[in-house]
Amino acid sequence: MIAESDLPYLKRCVELAREALDAGDEPFGSVLVSAQGEILFEDRNRVAGGDHTRHPEFEIARWAATHLSPADRAATTVYTSGEHCPMCAAAHGWVGLGRIVYVSSSRQLIGWLNEMKAGLPPVRALPIQDIVPTVPVAGPVPGLAEEVRALHERRHAQRGRSA
Ligand code: ZN
Repeated sequence: MIAESDLPYLKRCVELAREALDAGDEPFGSVLVSAQGEILFEDRNRVAGGDHTRHPEFEIARWAATHLSPADRAATTVYTSGEHCPMCAAAHGWVGLGRIVYVSSSRQLIGWLNEMKAGLPPVRALPIQDIVPTVPVAGPVPGLAEEVRALHERRHAQRGRSA
């Protein structure tokens, strides 16, 4: 379930996704929030340099492993513009982070990519629950998900032009 209090963080994720797209990366952004509601860490996709593991959710897991106790990690919420890929879901689980709230689902993303006749990712888009079944997960968020879709459409249009 998504609460009114989740919305500012989700909007920040979409903003970070837009920043990533503007910088030539893929439109994804994520924030790590403490039990008290403080943003502890945030990042955006940074794959344009050629390292396709530079996902924000992966960076969040690494940051949390270095900076937070296991109890603090479990009390966090990770907000993200797009549902975690299997790599990031696994990192989330191994590090022991808490709830996940995503704006748009992997299923939506694959549907959009198919509609745009864009290439599919090399890693299968499994639901988070298939990778880390005990993590509470909420999403997608109607309305905001359409903003994410528009970013992916812009990304695809840009790639079409440069191809
Ligand atoms: Zn990922």
